[in-house]
Amino acid sequence: MMDDILATAVRDADQTEAVAVARGAADDCGPLLRQTGDGAPLLVVADENTWAAAGPQTSRAASSAGLQLAESMVFPASPTLYASLDNAAAIRDAITAADAAMGREVLPVAVGAGTLNDLVKMAAHELGRRYVVVGTAASMDGYTGAGAPISNDGVKITMNCTAPKAVVFDLDVTAQAPAWMVASGYGDLAAKIPGGADWILADAVGIEPIDEHVWKLVQSGVREALAHPRELAAGQPEAFSGLVDGLVLSGLAMQVYGGTRPASGAEHYFSHIWELDHLGADQDPPLSHGAKVAVGTLAMLAFYERFMARDVAALDVDAAVAAWRPWEEVEADIRRTFTGALAEHAVKETRAKYVDGDGLRQRLELLKQSWPATQARLEEQLVPAADFQQQLSLAGAPSRPQDIGLDVAGLKATFPKAMYYRSRYTVLDVAREAGWYDQLVDEVFANDSLWS
Ligand SMILES: [Zn+2]
Repeated sequence: MMDDILATAVRDADQTEAVAVARGAADDCGPLLRQTGDGAPLLVVADENTWAAAGPQTSRAASSAGLQLAESMVFPASPTLYASLDNAAAIRDAITAADAAMGREVLPVAVGAGTLNDLVKMAAHELGRRYVVVGTAASMDGYTGAGAPISNDGVKITMNCTAPKAVVFDLDVTAQAPAWMVASGYGDLAAKIPGGADWILADAVGIEPIDEHVWKLVQSGVREALAHPRELAAGQPEAFSGLVDGLVLSGLAMQVYGGTRPASGAEHYFSHIWELDHLGADQDPPLSHGAKVAVGTLAMLAFYERFMARDVAALDVDAAVAAWRPWEEVEADIRRTFTGALAEHAVKETRAKYVDGDGLRQRLELLKQSWPATQARLEEQLVPAADFQQQLSLAGAPSRPQDIGLDVAGLKATFPKAMYYRSRYTVLDVAREAGWYDQLVDEVFANDSLWS
């Protein structure tokens, strides 16, 4: 079934044209490379670790398919390769040098995980060139996405690029990836649970209708893919099929949808806020995206539990509207919550989803009317936070705030920031609009069995 869904996603995605996920896929990718590049010679870009993981298989496959290979660009394994503008420029230069050496335009092939993919994605994009990625770790869902997060002078920006033309994942290779990368992919895929619930709520109040086709692409395999944390941690190749499919589908769904809503909700804002605080940035390797998302996901599942315990159908809309704060007060609170440029950002983002009293009444009435159906849909979507925490720990992923260097107070303090961080409507907004926000956050931390 997942094969059909993947084929549908590739058909409907506007940038990625071919995806191969299988055991031995790197050994077998010659014909795909030939077709994708229309016979162009290849430039493989890797680092010493990722080259060792899949470089020889990819090169042999290309040669067997009759393709020429420019001299590979292999970064040293140490120091850790960063997704920086400088490294992207070096790859761009290597591509043009390879063009000259081969006498025609080469097809860049990133052999690696997130960082290498982002760097080659950006270098190729700047040259107006397509590229292929042979993924070496199931570490996040950005392989098939169009954005490339790049840092410049210590500031992280997401460059809008073009997604890879083809994606290859060899399950035998991904099963051998370092445990922290597998844990990261597990966390990033798990985000689809609360992220999907946020979309259900945004749909219920008429803010962002669910695209059922895209929903199916991104959500169908998530539960099954997350159901084998032990096997993933043990590096069993078969268990990786669901995880890799899920991550690839998530990126493709963003292409089909033309935005990131299908793949992320409030749990990602926790991660982004910690990223901006440089949480774990000086570790080697730096704290991964998925590690932060895992803890954000746990926090959101805990929040959802408290939210679902409320009687939405009995919500007193008049009281909520009467207690609704005017924009000036909200803005003042945002400026107390954030400092500097982030405060300006949060003011702008929150303003975009702020409504006056009449607008609030309308939203809350819609929520109440639709609640029987919405509640059923949310119950089907969500999983208990404690069960999920257990799964995270079996997968070797962070399962408590201290696993990513945060204390419980730090996690709690991220809740108001996450609510203000983006204009995207999530359960945090529903709770704020219903007048329940502070109480629900207190309830999340009242029972400390999840956090200690
Ligand atoms: Zn993510």
